[in-house]
Amino acid sequence: MMNGKQYRESLKKLKPIIYCNGEKIEDVTTHPMIRPHVNSAAMTYELASDPLYQNLMTARSHLTGKTINRFTHIHQSKEDLVSKVKMLRMIANKTGTCFQRCVGLDAMNATFMTTYDIDKKCGTEYHKRFVKWLEYVQENDLMIAGSMTDPKGNRSLKPSAQADPDLFTRVVEKRDDGVVLCGAKAHQTGMANSHEMLILPTTNLLPGDEAWAIACAVPVDAEGVTHIFGRQTNDQRRLQGHIDTGNAEYAIVGGETLTVLDHVFVPWDRVFMCGEIEFAQDYVTRFASYHRQNYGGCKVGNSDVLIGATALMADMNGTARASHVKDKLIEMTHLAETMYCCSLACSYEGHRTEAGNYYVDTLLANEVKLNCTRNIYEIARLAHDIAGGFIATLPYEKDLMAPETGDLIRKFLAANAEFDAVDRIKLARLIENMSGGTALAESMHGAGSPQAMKVMILRESNMDRKKELAADLADLFCEKEA
Ligand code: SF4
Ligand code: FE
Repeated sequence: MMNGKQYRESLKKLKPIIYCNGEKIEDVTTHPMIRPHVNSAAMTYELASDPLYQNLMTARSHLTGKTINRFTHIHQSKEDLVSKVKMLRMIANKTGTCFQRCVGLDAMNATFMTTYDIDKKCGTEYHKRFVKWLEYVQENDLMIAGSMTDPKGNRSLKPSAQADPDLFTRVVEKRDDGVVLCGAKAHQTGMANSHEMLILPTTNLLPGDEAWAIACAVPVDAEGVTHIFGRQTNDQRRLQGHIDTGNAEYAIVGGETLTVLDHVFVPWDRVFMCGEIEFAQDYVTRFASYHRQNYGGCKVGNSDVLIGATALMADMNGTARASHVKDKLIEMTHLAETMYCCSLACSYEGHRTEAGNYYVDTLLANEVKLNCTRNIYEIARLAHDIAGGFIATLPYEKDLMAPETGDLIRKFLAANAEFDAVDRIKLARLIENMSGGTALAESMHGAGSPQAMKVMILRESNMDRKKELAADLADLFCEKEA
């Protein structure tokens, strides 16, 4: 296993092409826009090498029997599914933001079971290839970007019907030694500081879409790959100071890229699906369900921090004893723990797959994430309510440091005399960071938009059985039958 330092050193050896704000980034570990995201991902390595956290952070590889980082593990039990959720909450307590590495973990587990199913039906050898690559990932403790989301173009059209066929990632050439890909993957969490990407389809596919049924592993610095780094709320503050960023060490959410694939060659031993359209829907459902399971872990871990920050701000403002403040803090806790309950439930209700790994309860996993699209906004609303409007009108850090204005800001932003005014400002910036634009939008659309969950909830809801239950109790349809 690597530790945090070794992870950073391993990133320095890669040469991905990354553009950010008109500039080509040479070293992601030192660039001020990406470094906080690297720090966050590095936490998944640092904690794994800390004896205090090894129970949650490591697992025994079912391939080699060696101790590996849990982020490269194929779940072998319901306890593994539960440990994953607890691990995510614990890491989020320390970063206050996304640490990105779960996307690859989920893509690997979904690929493990799907390649098994394809081989069983089609006589292919994807599973064997995938397991070989997985062993390499585990041995080298790599960070994998799970690359599912395509740009998708006109949402009412399937991949093969798009005006531009590159709007979904596809195979443009099959050769004796491998395939050539064109297209792009969007909103790629952690891509800039991953070692490899695991590409999988993004949607259900129909006859005619065979070229788009592609799963494979590609190094982030493979020839033909270009990453364009996304903007976040207030990201330029990283270039200007420390206090104003709110969480200077770890930034906001995942640091996403638009990753363009321009004639990227992938050798056959790294191809895990090629043309088998009938497996695309299950593949997507599995990946999405694993990732939706997570949100009652990481988002609840972040909420712990935000709730704590809000309670502390009430202390600083002198409002902590007001009954409505206490009530709102209880409500925030209730909303967070509800999401955690769902994540634990979908893990405990998981089951063993034919391939041998463990998979979450799909219906309950989708409930986790649907709750998240609402509860996180409500938690943020209550944080704003309690913290006060000053979190949106605070002066610049530079003015706090300037001799002409610094003392004035300290004097007029003082509240409860037990606390320092600068600490109050720092805490306000943390609340602003964790409850604003990019953080909220991520809890809405990360791991899929609400409608995607509703489609799955309807599919899994067993509505006919529910109708039968009602009909039996109400003694319906007897006369017709008689
Ligand atoms: Fe992991 Fe949560 Fe970030 Fe997704 S949003 S990558 S589950 S920390
Ligand atoms: Fe996410």
